[in-house]
Amino acid sequence: MEWHGYPKPDGRQRDLLLSITAFRGIHRSHENDVFEIASDQSQVIVSVKKFSQSLYHSVFQFVKSFFQILVDFIYPPVCIQCNQRLDHRGFICESCKNKFLNAMKPHFQMGKDDFYHLQGDIFFNEVITFWDYTPDMEQLIFQIKYQRKKKLGLLLGQILGKTLQTVPFCGEDCVIVPVPLHNVRRRERGYNQSEILCKGMADYIAAPIQCDCLIRCRHTLTQTKLTAHERQENVKDAFEVSKPCNVKGKTIMLVDDVITTGATINNCALSLKRAGAEAIVGIALARPRLE
Ligand SMILES: [Zn+2]
Repeated sequence: MEWHGYPKPDGRQRDLLLSITAFRGIHRSHENDVFEIASDQSQVIVSVKKFSQSLYHSVFQFVKSFFQILVDFIYPPVCIQCNQRLDHRGFICESCKNKFLNAMKPHFQMGKDDFYHLQGDIFFNEVITFWDYTPDMEQLIFQIKYQRKKKLGLLLGQILGKTLQTVPFCGEDCVIVPVPLHNVRRRERGYNQSEILCKGMADYIAAPIQCDCLIRCRHTLTQTKLTAHERQENVKDAFEVSKPCNVKGKTIMLVDDVITTGATINNCALSLKRAGAEAIVGIALARPRLE
């Protein structure tokens, strides 16, 4: 048996090709058992390829779901909050999810009254936080930040996005920007938790995410154990805008997991304003209080 043209089909493709050529009524020379598909050849080959790919895809999906059932049997999915066994392929039970939703208390904060730790000018317009910093929320943020619970971050980001949908500044000139990690810390952690929150938000807000326009140009200490004054010094001049054209004239939704004294977002806001940003709104899950 000979085949004209290239690529030459293998046995299984040949069978498929046979059925397709037969279906299309393409001439077959019986005398020497050569299939002449000449002018229509490329089209037929493409069809065969697509068909065989979809077959591979189906087999792959079947094997994948078989292994998923096996994994679920050995390690049944449990809620990441209460460890209760789940009857769906999620990661959080309905009761825990509702607990988050019911505990949500958006707070709008602005100016020196709310950010009395900051010395000097305040460059952001306002800050919105969504939950009280309870031990539950602290644990949740820890999981998102250090225990690779990215799906949880995505879910909380989606809740923020859904809540912010109706806020007037979420318009055409709005850009979502995560507070960046330094490259070294990002490599250590493997991801930026603020970016995950942004991705969740963007599922509900029609604003683009700009992940690389604001960068942390200096490696800074973690703010957790520092005093208010040390925090401000620690992040001073730590940020710069690498793509001013992406923020010029825009309202920036600057997203972080927590906002405490406001030192980090104030320094980000300073760089963004210098690059021409119109307004900066800080968005965070919660605000721990610093005495
Ligand atoms: Zn639960």
